Amino acid sequence: MRPDLLNPLFAPVSALPGVGPKTGKLFDRLLDRPAGARVLDLVFHIPHSSIDRRNRPAISQAPRDEIVTLEVRVVEHRPPSRNKGPYRVLVEDETGDVSLVFFLANHQWIERMLPLGAKRWISGKLELWEGHLQMVHPDKVLDEEGLAKLPPVEPVYWLTEGLHQRNVAKAAEAALARAPALPEWHDEAALSLRKLPDFAQALATLHRPQTPKDLEPDSPARVRLALDELLASQLALVMTRARFRDLPGRASVGDGRISDKILNSLPFELTGSQTGAIAEIRADIASTKRMLRLLQGDVGSGKTLVALLTMASVVEAGRQAALMAPTEILARQHYERMAPLGESVGIRFGLITGRDKASERNRTLAALAAGEIDILVGTHAVFQESVVFRDLAYAVVDEQHRFGVHQRLALGEKGEAVDVLVMTATPIPRTLVLTYFGDMDVSTLRDKPAGRKPVDTRALPVERIDEVVEGLRRALDAGAQVYWVCPLVEENEELDVAAAQERYELLQQFFGDRVGLVHGKMKGRDKDAAMEAFQRNETKILVATTVIEVGVDVPNASIMVIEHAERFGLAQLHQLRGRVGRGAAKSTCLLLYKAPLGEVSRARITIMRETEDGFRIAEEDLRLRGEGEILGSRQSGLPGFRLASLDVHGPLLAVAREEATRILAADPELNNEALRILLHLFEREEAARLVRAG
Ligand code: ADP
Ligand code: MG
Repeated sequence: MRPDLLNPLFAPVSALPGVGPKTGKLFDRLLDRPAGARVLDLVFHIPHSSIDRRNRPAISQAPRDEIVTLEVRVVEHRPPSRNKGPYRVLVEDETGDVSLVFFLANHQWIERMLPLGAKRWISGKLELWEGHLQMVHPDKVLDEEGLAKLPPVEPVYWLTEGLHQRNVAKAAEAALARAPALPEWHDEAALSLRKLPDFAQALATLHRPQTPKDLEPDSPARVRLALDELLASQLALVMTRARFRDLPGRASVGDGRISDKILNSLPFELTGSQTGAIAEIRADIASTKRMLRLLQGDVGSGKTLVALLTMASVVEAGRQAALMAPTEILARQHYERMAPLGESVGIRFGLITGRDKASERNRTLAALAAGEIDILVGTHAVFQESVVFRDLAYAVVDEQHRFGVHQRLALGEKGEAVDVLVMTATPIPRTLVLTYFGDMDVSTLRDKPAGRKPVDTRALPVERIDEVVEGLRRALDAGAQVYWVCPLVEENEELDVAAAQERYELLQQFFGDRVGLVHGKMKGRDKDAAMEAFQRNETKILVATTVIEVGVDVPNASIMVIEHAERFGLAQLHQLRGRVGRGAAKSTCLLLYKAPLGEVSRARITIMRETEDGFRIAEEDLRLRGEGEILGSRQSGLPGFRLASLDVHGPLLAVAREEATRILAADPELNNEALRILLHLFEREEAARLVRAG
């Protein structure tokens, strides 16, 4: 239950004075809360910068192109001579004069605001025009009274169409006024050591900055809020971890009879990190502690095999395992790869997706409950209540980023003492592991299987698409298979699909029915059919939207064309490229871009050409996203975080982690009222609820 104290913050923004239903909708959009923005969201909508109006030089001293506030006298009005000309007003001080320029302005307003002979304060940017100083549309025209009310430093907020700075500033003021006084949740000593303000002060400082420095990411106010947010998330993670660890586990100890057979059937040796990860996982499974472990490894690093060999151990112990994939395609692919192998070594596999026929499904469910299936492969359909295992010991979740904490926990409830392994192919920068996976132990596959050939990565402007098509013709003749990826560009999925469709048709003109198409809007069965035709080498070119991003494995595919590469993030480009370079042939990745490239896109493409090391790419990605923030793009910070930005506040993470660990050691159920308020404030209370329920 949310503490009553916080209710005003969770009230809708539209309940604030001055925000009607119509502006309310705009705030929902601005704050990205389609279900209704709350006062809290507004309070956390921190200005991205500020305008300093304290610079009050004499005209002769005033710099160009930055905001100045001039104290002047109005000397002359020059209404436009022609209809469309500007209205000019000449103002002066002892040192010089400036012409104020108004286009399409209301004359009466100008006469009222700038009466001849009056003293005024004018704020805006000066420029030089035909040798004379002018200011076009001053931001502010103030009399003495107005000046007294002018905030010396004005916050500047991100906006959405229909909302102006003053709307947001006013609403933020109203929101601040409603914010209740909250008890302190940090150690007073830690705060004074770092010279951090309290929560309310920090918010007030950010919405009413006194100097532009107040809004810089390392200002005490920003640091305070970032630390709050990180502490809340670390508390949640440490609690989840503790909850998992405290759950009784059961030891499943395999005897190696099945996994040895699998190993012997492999035409290759395990890599060192595969062997290491398998040992770590087996040790966890064999202990009575509950496992919650992350297995991270780049695409193609051999995670699936680690999963299979560890699942085999559980089967040897006479229990069941589940393997969950994020999409139908991947679930099927896993199943189809593993099932034949299973037969020869004595593992019975089952498959559950959202699209099984009722009769088939019932048969699978019955077999599962009877223990006649050892390993169930599926999509999130595995979570459904009707899916009952005889004795589930171990669950593997492939491609973590589509599964939330919630599902990790739900899985844990599926069986008695289920150990959970989460696999991700998105290499996670070290600084972020704690942020997102602080509740897990981590195994990492760092070395790639031997014999992998580097992928030759090239960038070409899309204008050279004819050459690309020519090149493909030669490659197809030599037996190659090709992925051709069209990005999700518009927010409108229909348009994206249309783009992929169009590319498909174009390529068909050259290559006929050797071209296949797969996209997110296709029916599941059609999608599977298209994927399978490609997998069976019936189609040679697969045009796809990013549905192939995750996990799909067609070793014969050796060319990856990525259209509009400039629109993809680094992590995504890397994932896509990882689809090739899996077979014997030398592979190529062509990044087709539309010129001109922005700075960040150029940097991304350069990095792609320089390295295939997913961990390095992940670090660079983080760095570039940090720069993206500086370049003014909205997409800053980290998913799931509103105030903390890891490139700046990263070092605070360890501080928050330590604090969370110390707090929970003394107060495992988090009965401390202030800390519970903190969890609710950042909406991480789910973890606390689970701890108490367990
Ligand atoms: P990931 O799931 O990490 O992307 P996979 O498990 O799909 O990687 O492995 C990719 C390919 O590499 C598969 O065809 C797999 O059989 C093969 N593979 C796995 N481990 C090794 C190894 N140690 N040596 C050579 N090939 C391997
Ligand atoms: Mg995989």
